[in-house]
Amino acid sequence: MSEKVKSEGKKLEEKLFLKHENASEKGKKFFDEAQGFCEGYKAFLNNKTEREVIDYVIPLLKDSGYVEFELGRKYSPGEKIFYNNRGKSIIMATIGKKCICEGVRIGASHIDSPRLDFKPVPMFEDTEIAYFKTHYYGGIKKYQWPSVPLSLHGIVTLKDGENVKIVIGENDSDPVFCVTDLLPHLAREQMKKPAAEVITGEQLNIVIGSWQFKDDDVSQKVKLNIANIIFEKYGITESDFLSAELCAVPAFKPRDVGFDRSMIGSYGQDDSACAYANIMAEVDAKNPEYTTITILADKEETGSDGPTGLNSMFLMDFIEDLASAYNVELRHVLKNSMCLSCDVNSAYDPSFGENYDRTNCSYLNHGPSISKYGGAGGKYSTNDASAEMVGFVRRIMDESGIIWQTGELGKIDNGGGGTVAMYVSSHNVDTVDLGVPVLSMHSPYEITAKADVYMLYLAIKAFYLYPENR
Ligand code: MN
Ligand code: MN
Repeated sequence: MSEKVKSEGKKLEEKLFLKHENASEKGKKFFDEAQGFCEGYKAFLNNKTEREVIDYVIPLLKDSGYVEFELGRKYSPGEKIFYNNRGKSIIMATIGKKCICEGVRIGASHIDSPRLDFKPVPMFEDTEIAYFKTHYYGGIKKYQWPSVPLSLHGIVTLKDGENVKIVIGENDSDPVFCVTDLLPHLAREQMKKPAAEVITGEQLNIVIGSWQFKDDDVSQKVKLNIANIIFEKYGITESDFLSAELCAVPAFKPRDVGFDRSMIGSYGQDDSACAYANIMAEVDAKNPEYTTITILADKEETGSDGPTGLNSMFLMDFIEDLASAYNVELRHVLKNSMCLSCDVNSAYDPSFGENYDRTNCSYLNHGPSISKYGGAGGKYSTNDASAEMVGFVRRIMDESGIIWQTGELGKIDNGGGGTVAMYVSSHNVDTVDLGVPVLSMHSPYEITAKADVYMLYLAIKAFYLYPENR
């Protein structure tokens, strides 16, 4: 077979230019592996709230040899432990061969997603239709949420302290719920409004019933009928909604997208795509040199506040508790530690191409995307990773044969967004963002490429198992 002689320019180009590789180049065997990995991912996507993820992950961890963390215990290399923070965030760790004083390898992702939370007094009736009022959680385009089938998820804490779990709308035999929209025939004025006002926050009311309780002495007959059904099924009265965390999310099931089944469509892929890759990398990281710490955080979508968000001290407290058994100070662990903040990035969307800088954005099937920084404007509110940290991560990925890319979120002046990276790096931990590119991010139906999810898993695992520090 005769080989075509490469021109001087071609050789120079290969030597000097950044490579833009598409995972398709890896061939069918790789594609089949990614498909297989993503069957587990699709099952995981059926957990639609942070609490459901925790309930799903704990049995998986126990089956994989993880035990609950015990304060003061000195763990041996290879042991696997977990710490459940309030059923809403979790830390998993695999003890390394090296002293914890040489630093830990952290992988952080979040398990909350944009949604419609219930207001504290949600139930009302208007003109013989009963509704739940909502208060949206995270950054949504409000107009995307009407006329989408919704399921209800969450917990209610009764006065005696008992928790009632609720999931309704996920089984095919369940009813679903919906926010309504105005018919186009009457929408002449609505369609003239800016998109942010087409549907207002106060219009995001969920239809929950229309049949009346038969009693002429009662004024809100539909509301009473629904309240009665809810009480009979769950033992909940109207005042119990105050001590609850209930939300509505799209009732769609995760599905393959495209004739080639190369993509996945689902609610909540920000950040379940990275969370799943992170969990599997943690579970599969056997006998690492450095202790691995995987954290699934809550409240990222609203700014990481509260005890279960990464702006809280619980991750640092955990590392301190772990280190204290070896008489090592927290700060000495942190200065030698590194963190991958695994959160999704926007994928270039040709339909909205003018919003991206095409030389600095992420593409589907080009692997996990390194974001050196996020934030907005003049790099405000961000972790801007050091050259050395980015250099370390790209070395690991190159050595492991992982296709990766880099990307900013989009054009500088079009907006911005953050991740948990700055809440970890503020504790003197070298941190960089690495995540899966997503189409239609923060919409009810987000799209990812299977190859990217799988490759992120390989990248995190390689980071966890890399035997040297930078
Ligand atoms: Mn995210
Ligand atoms: Mn997000």
